[in-house]
Amino acid sequence: MPYVVPPPSPVTIPVQGETGVFPVRRVYCIGRNYAAHAREMGHDPTREPPFFFLKPADAIRVAQPDAVLDIPYPPQTTDLHFEVELVVALGKGGSNIPADQAADCVFGYAVGLDLTRRDRQQDMKDLRRPWELGKAFDASAPISPIVPAEAAGNMAAAAISLEQNGHTRQHGNTGQMIWPVAEAISYLSTYFRLEPGDLLFTGTPDGVGPAAAGDVLRARCQGVGELAIRLV
Ligand code: MN
Repeated sequence: MPYVVPPPSPVTIPVQGETGVFPVRRVYCIGRNYAAHAREMGHDPTREPPFFFLKPADAIRVAQPDAVLDIPYPPQTTDLHFEVELVVALGKGGSNIPADQAADCVFGYAVGLDLTRRDRQQDMKDLRRPWELGKAFDASAPISPIVPAEAAGNMAAAAISLEQNGHTRQHGNTGQMIWPVAEAISYLSTYFRLEPGDLLFTGTPDGVGPAAAGDVLRARCQGVGELAIRLV
């Protein structure tokens, strides 16, 4: 059967040490998952249930190792923020996944940026509207290649950081997550049937801030490697 319009290209991410690529189905993101970031955004970081938003799969942009990927400074904002995040790539899915079985679902890990139009996100918060205009824009999800879980090592206590033009802006540890990866997957799977190909951006430590055209942002996560972008 012919398509009536050109079909979208599949979105894929390279996998370190493999010739095969990871096909992206959905991009889930968890909000406020580090206490210090919740506080800097004006919220009480007590352990209330996690909340989630999504980005479209084609918001992904893959940065190759040892290269700086150009990302367009997006329209309709004057306050683009960086958020460095550990990204979990699911190799298995399910509904109502028990937390003690969630690790079996993890194919691997990447480091990503949850680029955010903070001004538009604030408008949406003020108006009690959804966050897509602030979070789900084109190229809003730069990401590194995926490192298979067995090669990444212990991601429950990995250093995670972001440099802006050579200055450290964010520096945390995945051990500071309010909802650790296994619990976040378990909780999310009570609302959505998760599938192979799903990504989960796991939230950002404190130190988020604005970036300008020309800035180079370098995100790092221990065990996973590095991601570098230039805003153009
Ligand atoms: Mn985020």
